[in-house]
Amino acid sequence: MSLSSLSSIQAQLAQLAAATGRPPARLLAVSKTQPASAIAALAAQGQRAFGENYVQEAVDKIGELAGLGLEWHLIGHLQSNKADLAARHFDWVQSVDRPKLVAALARHRPPALPPLNVLIQVNIDDEDSKHGCAPEQILPLAELIAAQPRLQLRGLMAIPRPHTDPTQSLPAFQAMAAHQRALQARYPQVDTLSLGMSADFPQAVSTGATLVRVGSALFGARPPRATSA
Ligand SMILES: *Cc1c(COP(=O)(O)O)cnc(C)c1O
Repeated sequence: MSLSSLSSIQAQLAQLAAATGRPPARLLAVSKTQPASAIAALAAQGQRAFGENYVQEAVDKIGELAGLGLEWHLIGHLQSNKADLAARHFDWVQSVDRPKLVAALARHRPPALPPLNVLIQVNIDDEDSKHGCAPEQILPLAELIAAQPRLQLRGLMAIPRPHTDPTQSLPAFQAMAAHQRALQARYPQVDTLSLGMSADFPQAVSTGATLVRVGSALFGARPPRATSA
């Protein structure tokens, strides 16, 4: 991780915004398996939003870094038995993909905190191994989320199948942008489309992503995961 990687990604996002005529996409720094010290270093350079995959690992770091005013997004698969921890510690959960999780997050979001921001994760390439709901389930899930005052529906997230050539992700990105427009037609508060990682965030932004999730391009190669969480 270095100042130059953060500022060069911000510069690319600014250029893409100028090219598309849209506001710059938000940068979520994906910090899974990175130590709290690496997160603090990036925060000192002005990065505010961080994404984590493993609930317990994240809760430890969120506690260590409390006071820095950071915004925490859960982007990994969430087991129902960890929904209470996630609802208490995160600002956003991007991996909501089933009714049971909607109910559990709503039940456990503490009254003293603002509503939990949620994205519906879509299995856009219909991969057996992937989490996320089928596209037909977006609207039914959205209806459940919108009925929960402790949850705020913000939009959609997907992790398309990886490709060596990032332009091959464009059909999946375009399909997600169409689902996002359909969702916005019913729920005008929807403002977030989370797509794109280190290898393909420019393609995602040019297709309409408003939030990109970037790990290795910011922090360098990830350390192996040390603990189970
Ligand atoms: C790890 C991860 C990322 C970041 O991947 P990089 O290729 O390191 O940028 C983005 N999104 C999700 C869901 C991830 O698990």
